Amino acid sequence: MTKYLFAPPAVASVPIRGSDEHFPIRRIFCVGRNYEAHAREMGLEADREAPFYFTKASVHYVPSGATVPYPPGTANYHHEMELVVGIGKAGFQIPVGQSLSHVFGYACGLDMTRRDLQIQAREKKLAWDLAKDFENAAVISELASASEIGHPCKGKIELKVNGDIKQSSELKLMIHHVPAIITHLSRFYHLQPGDLIFTGTPEGVGPVAAGDRIEGMIEGVGEITLNIGAADSP
Ligand code: MN
Repeated sequence: MTKYLFAPPAVASVPIRGSDEHFPIRRIFCVGRNYEAHAREMGLEADREAPFYFTKASVHYVPSGATVPYPPGTANYHHEMELVVGIGKAGFQIPVGQSLSHVFGYACGLDMTRRDLQIQAREKKLAWDLAKDFENAAVISELASASEIGHPCKGKIELKVNGDIKQSSELKLMIHHVPAIITHLSRFYHLQPGDLIFTGTPEGVGPVAAGDRIEGMIEGVGEITLNIGAADSP
C-alpha cells in the first residue's frame, strides 16, 4: 500500500440519471469555436478543417445545482452552454463509423470562462489555462446514457440568465459533430472510459454576476443550473 503524505483528492464523478451509479471523471477535453456564430462574436473565423482543444482538471468539476463563488482575477466571468459527451469505452485512432460506440452518454455542461483573461492570453499568444481551467469552471449535469436518449445530433440548446434567454441555437449547427470530434481527438489520445468532451458553445455568451442564476437545457438531453455567489474573501 502506498503511504500518502496527505489524503489524495477524491475522484470527481458525475451522477448518471436514473441510476445509483456515478461516472468517474478521467479527463475533461473542450472543443473551441465549434459554432460559426460564436467564432464570429469572438471576432474570429472558425476552423472548418479540424477542431482544437483545451482541457480542464477533473477537480474543477462542479455539479449542476451548485452555488459557486464569483471567481478571482476576473471582471468578465462568462457562461458557455455546451453538449458534453461521456466516453464509456477505450479507443485509439477510432474510425468515424465506430465513434458513437465509444460514447456512454451525454450531459449539459457550462464551460465557465474568465473572458478578460482569455482575450489577454489570445493577444499575447499565451495559453488559456487561467481563463478556462480554474476552480468550479467545469459545470456538468447528470449524464443521460445513450441507451436511454440515443445520440443527439439536432435539437435546441438554450441558456437563460435570471429567466432571460441569452443563448439559443441548435446542435445541428456544430461545425465538428460528435463522431468527427471523437475520431480526431483519438488520433492524439488513447481515449478511456471517464473522459469527457465539452463540444463547444453557440453564440450569445456573456457575463454573469453575483446573485445571478443560470439555467440551461438541451432538447433530448437534460437541464443544468448554476447559482453565482459572492466572491470569496481572503
Ligand atoms: Mn467552450
